[in-house]
Amino acid sequence: MENRIAETLKILTETDKEACETVHVSENEPITNKKRLFIESYGCQMNFADSEIVASVMREAGFATTSDAENADLVFLNTCAIRDNAEQRVRTRLKQLNVYKKKKPGMLIGVLGCMAERLKAKLLEEEKMVDIVTGPDAYRDLPRLVEEAETGQKGVNVFLSREETYADISPVRLNSNGITALISIMRGCDNMCSFCVVPYTRGRERSRDPQSIIKEAQDLFNDGYKEVTLLGQNVDSYKYADPNNKSEIFSFAKLLEQVALISPELRVRFSTSHPKDITDEVLYTIKKYDNICKYIHLPAQSGNSRVLEIMNRTYTREWYLERIDSIRRILGDECGISHDMIAGFCTETEEEHQDSLSLLEYVRFDFGYMFSYSERPGTPAAKKFTDDIPADIKQRRLAEIIEVQQRISTERNKKLIGTIQRVLVEGTSKRSEADFSGRSDQNKVVIFPRENFKKGDYVNVLITDTTSATLRGKAVIEEEIIQLA
Ligand code: SAM
Ligand code: SF4
Repeated sequence: MENRIAETLKILTETDKEACETVHVSENEPITNKKRLFIESYGCQMNFADSEIVASVMREAGFATTSDAENADLVFLNTCAIRDNAEQRVRTRLKQLNVYKKKKPGMLIGVLGCMAERLKAKLLEEEKMVDIVTGPDAYRDLPRLVEEAETGQKGVNVFLSREETYADISPVRLNSNGITALISIMRGCDNMCSFCVVPYTRGRERSRDPQSIIKEAQDLFNDGYKEVTLLGQNVDSYKYADPNNKSEIFSFAKLLEQVALISPELRVRFSTSHPKDITDEVLYTIKKYDNICKYIHLPAQSGNSRVLEIMNRTYTREWYLERIDSIRRILGDECGISHDMIAGFCTETEEEHQDSLSLLEYVRFDFGYMFSYSERPGTPAAKKFTDDIPADIKQRRLAEIIEVQQRISTERNKKLIGTIQRVLVEGTSKRSEADFSGRSDQNKVVIFPRENFKKGDYVNVLITDTTSATLRGKAVIEEEIIQLA
């Protein structure tokens, strides 16, 4: 059993890195006369998008980015606090950075993002090498905090705002493939799921002016980008009231439509949807526009109604399944659906865990991001419940969830053999220069021989082989598609 758990968890770290374990590192800007900023970003896509805002703010203050931490003047870690291991990784990294700092006196180290917000000035006491601590709503203040730190003082700003959306800041695209980009459409979260630290680290929910979002998407398209992902903790609750006409509410469905109308050549994705808020109107908008990707990330967290209630998710198993049925009814079986699932939440029984497994069997998700419960100080769950599921049982339940999901992912992918998927080429495959890698409408990674295609092309690929994580195939031209039909 133990070997099986280890094996399954190893698979998780290999295939599911993308959403929760990947670290993004800033690139080298070819500029010589500026001070050098190294940014390393942890956690979710929102954090990666925030680092692009930070790079933009710091560019105005005379910094250019570098990929070389050792020789940087300023090092920022943009952190995640969602699980304890995310914070432990940052602490380990800080120790490594301290070695560089000792060799290069004058180097400044800043901790940004959710861990900074959670720990505030305490972080300065615990990690002496840190000079700057900045929460997610205080990035405009970074140049002042850096100046303060340059004089030997510590710089702290963890003020959470009710208004800040950074709407007027044009992000510097970091780690960009020049084809796909992230756009934050809202910040914070009002949901108060009992396990989650986000409402405390990112503050109250607020939506960004839709015109600034549409302009950002249009500018990206004009610059050659072919795909935008609209980001928020709960995109379905996006709503913007024009300050001059408060009765006019701009909904998420309307925003999605306006971004889709920029060009049929611009793909639109979004994340994350919340089961309590995703409406049929959004589903019909997705159906109406070919360039809105038929893919929905709909975190479940548990398949049992009692557990969902104590998680304060505000929906039941039945509600969740009704939303899934609606997605299938409106968008068909080919719509990609993924989930988040937590194993071993407080008081979860074996039967309740079985409900999570049976939910996976019912829905047949394309993939999932699966976690064992990690108690976060200060959250409602930490205050009200005991973290009473022993670590080995959590790990075993997680391994079972992953195993079921992997099997279903493999089966769902196998069904695509012989179909033609429209793939947007994002770049060369990591494994072979001879292959391109891109994603299908349903967000599946597709690898195929490069031939004469180039980055940014939409290519029709006939799927010939699959694993649980990727599809392989070969490009087909129009006449071949007619023959295959
Ligand atoms: N806003 C999204 C939603 O409502 O589902 C998710 C945001 S959170 C950054 C990403 C995922 O981390 C969650 O969906 C949940 O599965 C997981 N997560 C959050 N807090 C956790 C905790 N304390 N322990 C384990 N997993 C957690
Ligand atoms: Fe956390 Fe729940 Fe908000 Fe998602 S919806 S960020 S899980 S509180």
